Amino acid sequence: MLQQSEIQQVRQIIERYNRFVLTTHVNPDGDALGSEMAFARYLQQCGKQVSILNSSPTPETFHFLDPKKMMQQFDARQHIELLTSSDVLFILDISDWQRLRELGELVKTLPIEKVCIDHHLREGRFADVDIIHPQASSTGELLFELFSGLKAKMTVPICEALYTAILTDTGNFRFSNTSPRVMRIAAELMEQGIDRQRIYREIYESQPLTRVKLMARMLDNLTLGCEGRLAWMYVTQAMLADVGTTMKDTEGFSDFPRTIRGVEVALLFLELEDGDVKISFRSQGNISVNALARQYGGGGHEFASGARTEGPIDDAIARVVSAAKDLFPDC
Ligand code: 5GP
Ligand code: MN
Repeated sequence: MLQQSEIQQVRQIIERYNRFVLTTHVNPDGDALGSEMAFARYLQQCGKQVSILNSSPTPETFHFLDPKKMMQQFDARQHIELLTSSDVLFILDISDWQRLRELGELVKTLPIEKVCIDHHLREGRFADVDIIHPQASSTGELLFELFSGLKAKMTVPICEALYTAILTDTGNFRFSNTSPRVMRIAAELMEQGIDRQRIYREIYESQPLTRVKLMARMLDNLTLGCEGRLAWMYVTQAMLADVGTTMKDTEGFSDFPRTIRGVEVALLFLELEDGDVKISFRSQGNISVNALARQYGGGGHEFASGARTEGPIDDAIARVVSAAKDLFPDC
């Protein structure tokens, strides 16, 4: 997937410079954080200075990836000097300035080299160097290819971070992006001695009770339409308050309706604190949901996209469900 020329470009940038900053999108997932940790460790292996600055804090689920707490939450006042004195910013798992928030605004104006490694759908250029391959399952898969090309030493921590990235973005090797190549990479990572079961436990068997309770509340409002081919559900601020938790507990909820027989497209509506509504679009792999997400200014992948729209949530649900029904010609 990666071109030789892309590998050479990255090689030259790493050879030429010394001070690197890594970043990723808001609300980072396993691919975002696993990719950052793997890349940071590789750069350290090359004797480089590396910092990781993210717009969002690291969810507890992924603390196991970062025992030395390399990942920091970006704070303009605290980190401006670090950023301005850096040579290169690697932007991983995202190619959309908006999803880099304040950090994005700031670095756009800084004369540091910006390199993007990503697998989201994108039209047009983004950074100074774009290595964007929407056919890749995950940014972790692209980094695996990059490291192979660079003959990196595949240490256990690097392999565990890449495995986490691939595991989470393929939904445990279930989604349609799970190619034979993905399975081969996973096998190679296993051969390096990763603790696969520990990673699984950390990510999928360590959920707080509040998350399960919130999921129960959400499943209670799950609705099917279009003869069971379209599913939608919501989480409101009131539901969060009742259960005593925050939005972080909703991570992964949007994947659930796909487990119901017959469901082809699923929508999850989250009522944000400011009254806006975050929408997750999921498809089981035949109907693209990307164009629908773009109608609301969002984006993502063919079969997993997201967007934000104005509240109140009831109106947002009515609007978006009605538009989603157009995905089914006879609905
Ligand atoms: P999720 O529904 O899990 O938040 O996101 C699914 C996919 O859509 C992810 O790949 C994510 O990057 C993308 N995505 C989510 N929200 C937005 C958004 O507001 N804008 C864009 N461009 N992409 C989004
Ligand atoms: Mn990803």
